[in-house]
Order: sequence, then C-alpha cells, then structure tokens
Amino acid sequence: MAQRVSYFEWMLQVLERAIKMDNLPYELYKVLSRPERVLTVSIPVRMDDGRLEVFEGYRVQYSSALGPYKGGIRFHPEVDLDTDKALALGMTLKNALNNLPYGGGKGAVKVDPKRLSKGELERLSRGYARAIAPLIGDQVDIPAPDVGTTPEIMAWMVDEYSRIRGYNVPGVFTAKPPELWGNPVREYSTGYGVVVAARAAAERYMGGLQGLRVSVHGFGNVGQYSALFAQRQGAKVVAVSDTSGTVYDPNGIDVELAMKVKAQTGKVINYPKGEKIYDPMASLFVDAEVLMPSAIENVITKDNASKVRAKLVVEGANGPTTPEAEAELYKRGSIVVPDISANAGGVVMSYLEWVENLQWYWWDEEETLKRLDAIMTSNVKRLIDRYESLKSTNPSATMRDAAFILALERVYRAMKARGWL
Ligand code: NAD
Repeated sequence: MAQRVSYFEWMLQVLERAIKMDNLPYELYKVLSRPERVLTVSIPVRMDDGRLEVFEGYRVQYSSALGPYKGGIRFHPEVDLDTDKALALGMTLKNALNNLPYGGGKGAVKVDPKRLSKGELERLSRGYARAIAPLIGDQVDIPAPDVGTTPEIMAWMVDEYSRIRGYNVPGVFTAKPPELWGNPVREYSTGYGVVVAARAAAERYMGGLQGLRVSVHGFGNVGQYSALFAQRQGAKVVAVSDTSGTVYDPNGIDVELAMKVKAQTGKVINYPKGEKIYDPMASLFVDAEVLMPSAIENVITKDNASKVRAKLVVEGANGPTTPEAEAELYKRGSIVVPDISANAGGVVMSYLEWVENLQWYWWDEEETLKRLDAIMTSNVKRLIDRYESLKSTNPSATMRDAAFILALERVYRAMKARGWL
C-alpha cells in the first residue's frame, strides 16, 4: 500500500520539481531541504485550577539567505515539528516571491487555544515568548500571528520580550494591535491583497475586474474583506459562504450587510436577501467568472474540480486546491493565482509595520494602503509575466510553478552572492 507522504515531504517534492524545471543546481535543493536551525521548547503553565501543564512548542528558522527569519506562530492541537518545518519552508518561498528582505521561519505550540481561559492563554503566550527570546529579535527573527493566534497575543509577546531586553522592541513581532505599534490596515490587508491579485490577473486575461461575477468561499477575516474590496473595485459578488451555508444572489450581494449579519449572528446564512443554499461548499460551484476560496485547505479536489465554473481562481486560503484539482482546472482552461502570491497581503503589511517600527515612525491608513497596493500589484504582475514566459517553453506549467521558480531564483542569487553555493 502506498505510504502517505507528510506535509514536509510533499513540500520537498514540490521544491525539487521547481528546481529541476528551472535547471537550478541540485546544491540548492541540498541546502533548502533542511532548516538552518530548529528550536524545541517546553512551556510550563499554571492552569486556573492549580494544575501545572507543560506544552510543547517549536521555532523553525528555515533560511536566512534573504534576511531575518520571518513567519507566524500557530497555536493548534495537531501541529508537530514536521508541519512546522513545512510551513517555515513555505514562508521562505513566500517572502522571497514577494520581494521582501526576509528569510523564512515558523513557530508553533501544540495546544487548543479555545480550551484555555484568557489568563491561561496569556501565561502560555508569555512563556513561549520567553522560551524563544534568546533566538529572536527585530534584526534576527520576527514572528507574527497564524492560525490560533491574534494581535492580542502579539501584544503580550512583544511586552514580554521587551521586559526581557529592558527596553521596548516594537519590531520583534508584527500584526500587533494599533494601540501597540500596529497598523490598522493589518486587519484587512490579506483580503485587500487577494483583490489586488484578482484585479491584476483579470486585467491581463479578462479585460478587468469591473463587472465580473465573484464568488467567495469562507467568510472569516480573509473572505469578508476579499468580498468587500472586490465589490469596491466594481465586481459583482454573487455568492459567499461559511460553515452555515451559502448565500447566492445573481443580482449581487450587499457585502457590508452580509458582514453585519455575520458579526451579529455568527452565520452568513442569516443574510436576509438572495437564495439560501444549506451547503457551505456550494459557493465553489456557482456561475461566476472569479472564485476566491478563502476558508481552509483542500476544498477543491479531484472529485469536484470539474464542477468549478470560474475561469480565474484566486487562492485567499492556504492550500485550497489539491495538485490533482489544479491540473484539472488548467485542463479546463482556468488559471489559479497561487496562495503564496494571492494571500501575501498579510505578510507584506507585516513588512510595512516592521519598517515603521524600526524607524519609530508611522504612515496613516491611506498612505499604508497605497504602499501595500503598489507592492502587491508589482509582485503579481511580475508573477504573471513569468508564468506566461514559462508556459511558452513548458505548456503544462502552472502559475504556482512560476511562483516557486521566481522565489527559488531569488534565494539562489542571494546564496550565490554570499558564497554559500
Ligand atoms: P477565519 O477563521 O477568520 O475564517 C475562516 C472562514 O471559513 C470562516 O468563516 C468559516 O466559517 C469558514 N469555513 C470553514 N470551513 C468551511 C467550509 N468547509 N466551507 C465554507 N466555509 C468554511 O480564518 P482566516 O484568517 O480568514 O483564514 C482563512 C484562510 O486564509 C486560512 O487558510 C489561512 O491560513 C489563510 N490566510 C489567512 C491570513 C490572514 O491574514 N488572516 C493570511 C494568509 C493566509
């Protein structure tokens, strides 16, 4: 029976394929198939009932070829070192692709944060910050939130780290609350970036985003703001869904109203107009030119890819399209803007926040958004250009292949310039 490969092994396979496709030296694979440094920590936390629990955590510092390590911290019961390594390699490529002066890293704690009281969560967060403090810093390794962590947790961590150093170090964590050296744009930066990516791709292939019908799967942070900004850019949002189901209206959904309903009732299905479809997946298959899968991974699979009608799929979520499904979509003439490009608005915004923090300076919301838009637009356009040139010599290439190649070339050039290869 075939053995299931781990997430990290799968990432290594993709890495190897891209290195071979671009004729990059195998030495690059040898170096990039291992993280530079791995830290495993244990964090004792006094629980509210008096018991002592000890949590396991990690910080993987994958590559520093392009700059300080950068990547989020995940609090999740199912994380392990293998997953953390895969995510850290992913961050290395995402940061490189998006022209940021960062290497890649990722942290994790094996915990279900929903099970903890606020006090327990704060003690765990501070404990983790203390445990990794010797190896991080605003010039060394700059964590941020990921699944299960929030701006509030970043505030506790930056406070803990600053207390250890004896002075304030705002730039050591990003995506902090606006009250503590954060930037208000961070809240919607990922969704905004998804729409910038959709706009650039639609301009190239479909005459612009204006008037196109858009469907959004997932109505959390990424999905809500993707829908909102798509509408503000002149697209017609015809479907949105969350775990409660799908709302469909071919005449267009009032996204601000849907967001209000979601905030008040927790379920988008309570949106008062349009058609209610009690199937969270239905938004993937409605009649629309653009699909933004923005919920979770592995939703477009080989079993349902033939039902997707959109010609442009812009991945707001991480890993929503399986490799087999992606091949099927391309066979049917669709294009997929891959996650490491389409949902990079969050990390680009983190970079802007870090630059502000290092200077003890700030940009207002309008100025920040202008910068985010300009960086995302030029990154996505560069990716599309590379995809088009790659396709001319390799007709089966995807935009994801082009993204990996662009990222790897940048890492390779830096390693070569440093004399590592
Ligand atoms: P979130 O928890 O705020 O929202 C997730 C949404 O998906 C919720 O509305 C939930 O109801 C919905 N959902 C879950 N399962 C579903 C299903 N089967 N069908 C339909 N809807 C479903 O999370 P988020 O921060 O919006 O992140 C979403 C995705 O984007 C994740 O893959 C995350 O890793 C990725 N991402 C997020 C950011 C960010 O800044 N938030 C940045 C980069 C990537």
